[in-house]
Amino acid sequence: MPGLIEAHCHSSVGNFWMYPYIGFFDCHGPDGKLWEACKSFDSIISRLKKIDSAMSDPDETLIAWGMDPIYFDGDRLVATHLDQVSKTRPVFIFHASGHLATVNTALMKKVGIDETTDVEGVPKGADGKPNGELQELPGLIMAGDIVLKLLTNNRDPQVWKNFGQLACNAGCTTVTDLGFVNLDDGAVDLLHTIIDDPDFPVRVSIPSSVFWHTELEKIARYFPGLANSDLDLTAEYVSGLRARSSDKLHLGQVKVLLDGSIQGFTARLRSPGYLSRKDNGIWISSPDIFKDLLLPFQKRGISIHCHCNGDEAVDVFLDAVEQIQAEFPWPDSRHTVQHCQLTTADQYRRMATMGMCANIFSNHIYYWGDQHYNSTVGPDRARRMEACRTAKENGVHFSLHCDSPVTPLGQLHTAWCAVNRLTASGRTLGEYEKLTVYDALRAVTLGAAYTLKLDHDIGSIEPGKLADFAVLETDPLEIDPVRLKDIKVWGTVMGGKLYPAAERD
Ligand SMILES: [Zn+2]
Repeated sequence: MPGLIEAHCHSSVGNFWMYPYIGFFDCHGPDGKLWEACKSFDSIISRLKKIDSAMSDPDETLIAWGMDPIYFDGDRLVATHLDQVSKTRPVFIFHASGHLATVNTALMKKVGIDETTDVEGVPKGADGKPNGELQELPGLIMAGDIVLKLLTNNRDPQVWKNFGQLACNAGCTTVTDLGFVNLDDGAVDLLHTIIDDPDFPVRVSIPSSVFWHTELEKIARYFPGLANSDLDLTAEYVSGLRARSSDKLHLGQVKVLLDGSIQGFTARLRSPGYLSRKDNGIWISSPDIFKDLLLPFQKRGISIHCHCNGDEAVDVFLDAVEQIQAEFPWPDSRHTVQHCQLTTADQYRRMATMGMCANIFSNHIYYWGDQHYNSTVGPDRARRMEACRTAKENGVHFSLHCDSPVTPLGQLHTAWCAVNRLTASGRTLGEYEKLTVYDALRAVTLGAAYTLKLDHDIGSIEPGKLADFAVLETDPLEIDPVRLKDIKVWGTVMGGKLYPAAERD
């Protein structure tokens, strides 16, 4: 079949796989090795103890990733848990959301976090001491270099090697690094060297990350260079990047963010908000000036990918697009709402009118569907989340994605979620939003290519297009749709060259 396309994931998944995985679901590494799920704090601690005893340098920080506290029924992993792993070696656990971490007492001692620390994002226990959790950027940054190593290590060839192999294992011939931080001349040259190499198995589309907020200095303090103060200059630079694309490296779009995540209760929701809480998420970009952020890109014909998990965030993006379209009309902009988790039928109708696309986070149904049903938004809205059928019926071009490293890279599994809408506990959420297998596979091939403006080259098997194929062991249109995720991927053909998948445990 046509090579699968993952139009919203991140190269940082290749970075995370440099470290041990301790997530709640079984997961395969780039080499095909199976990492079994850690379903309790005890299993996390015993895995970390094993890793600790195998490390030779006693001062080296033990880093692990993939834990999500939402699966542990209100219990929080705190420093005292991790002190059971080591009282002397610093331990840093990065949560699945990418917004939080938990560290042990040795790490806090090393970086100087104690009862006198007065920083938003460093919560304290009843005893007045920091409990080991580090929240959002202000808290995370307290751990020092480790955080930069985890969040911005996008120039390491080994990171890209892991990323490319994970993509190939999943049958993908094109992936994205959706929002590259500090995409400058040096990064572009380096990325060409890595990605244009004939041994690198996948094409990559890399939009530039643009951050802008009324509290610019807040962002700049943590990540110098991240807040783009002169948007015209930035837009001009991104516009120039288009000419520096190759067959394998696609440049010249932008990624912006509006809100947080639903499972982290930081997404912005329309009324009535969250089921169990009164606060309503956070704005990562200021909504009142959002149109000003987009305008310099619209003027130059640069397509915009905007992270909107909640439906209130989608309203802000659609309003801003309506305004920039009125000032600089551009019918084929294909501005794309990324995630689209709670996007409603009225919003899809507006998107169709404005020629906008959707990239829907369909595998949330499996990974967090039970939590959405029980605690974030409740049964009614949980059933209408990831509304693929509504998008299709309203004529919106759409794709499906996994947002790896947030969930494992695997477009057959992501498509399976849109077809079957089963949660991890086996509950069906929203029968009427199910897609057919054919429509789901179309979304992860031609649909994804369309959102990236690459559908003239990839996404279907046609004379004149690039010869990219996913080679599957079974025909997905001939099996029971509930088995779609179990199809074995032999590997890929990309540009006429064979790339076998790693042998799985
Ligand atoms: Zn993302």
